[in-house]
Amino acid sequence: MALSIPVTWSDAHRLHDPESAVWVGVPIPGDELPARADAIRAALEEAGAPVVPAEPHPDDALLAVHEAGLVEFLRGAWRDWDAAGFPADPGQGDVTGYIFPTPGLLAGYEPRVPASLAARTGAWSYDTMTAVGPGTWEAARGAVDAALTAADIVLDGTRAAYACCRPPGHHVTRSAFGGSCYLNNTAIAAQYLRDRGFARVSILDVDAHHGNGAQTIFRERDDVLTGSVHVDPAYGWFPHFLGFAEESGETNLNATLSPGSGDEAWLAAVDRLVAAARRHESEALVVALGVDAASADPNSPLEVTGAGYREAGRRLGGLGLPTVLAQEGGYVLETVGSLVLEALQGFEEGAS
Ligand SMILES: [Zn+2]
Repeated sequence: MALSIPVTWSDAHRLHDPESAVWVGVPIPGDELPARADAIRAALEEAGAPVVPAEPHPDDALLAVHEAGLVEFLRGAWRDWDAAGFPADPGQGDVTGYIFPTPGLLAGYEPRVPASLAARTGAWSYDTMTAVGPGTWEAARGAVDAALTAADIVLDGTRAAYACCRPPGHHVTRSAFGGSCYLNNTAIAAQYLRDRGFARVSILDVDAHHGNGAQTIFRERDDVLTGSVHVDPAYGWFPHFLGFAEESGETNLNATLSPGSGDEAWLAAVDRLVAAARRHESEALVVALGVDAASADPNSPLEVTGAGYREAGRRLGGLGLPTVLAQEGGYVLETVGSLVLEALQGFEEGAS
């Protein structure tokens, strides 16, 4: 049966093409590449899914979730970097931070926004591997538009829509980007659904890594539940400083897994997220759909299969809620499309 879920899409994603990322001081090859989204779209189109162009949306939706300073920094960062001559001297073509205002540096003093552009980058980012290139802003903005267009489709009464977007977003906090993410697509979509009438919304994150952005953005709120299944950061995995089971509370659930966990343990954790959304009495669902928990993906030590993704889709679809799904991680070009297809087919089976 043909896949019927609408797939929202922005060509602007291709403008973000990071050749390398600085990790422990050295450039390593980038893997959050345009070919990822192209591969996913191709697999979904081949399965019959309708592709819907992303509609431009005003900045209000971003500013409901992110600090204005972060949005303004990202909008002008590369232009300012280029104008300041960094690509020629010292030869860094991408906006990259070098000093970060950690609590240890500030000792309680209010962080200033530094005059130096090189230093200012550190005020809005928390790692060195999430560089801003010439087309990053347009791509990140296009990803938000794809997520919001998916939300519009759901608000118009279609049961579910999937944003085939990149760069991903789930590691972005209210005021800091990192983890190959620039704007928090799923958090923005969740707030947008809240502002348009859904009183309670759940964000369930099945990416292999903790959805630290949504957890911190909605930390003080009980109208948005955040749940994430991911490899336990205690084993040395990104985002390292957050994502521990102990951070769970009334409206946040971190279901952590040890390296090597396969379908059985992973699906049991997905069930915990689904049960939490049910208890929360959410009226709408946003799924942060990363497929990097797959066994072939080198970015996580989890061992989930295609059948596992299909079953997770069924269980999420079984919630019976209006649902926006948005792409997060998943980096193996040969399999990323089929894994997303499995998850969406499972979702349609579960929802029917
Ligand atoms: Zn991930």
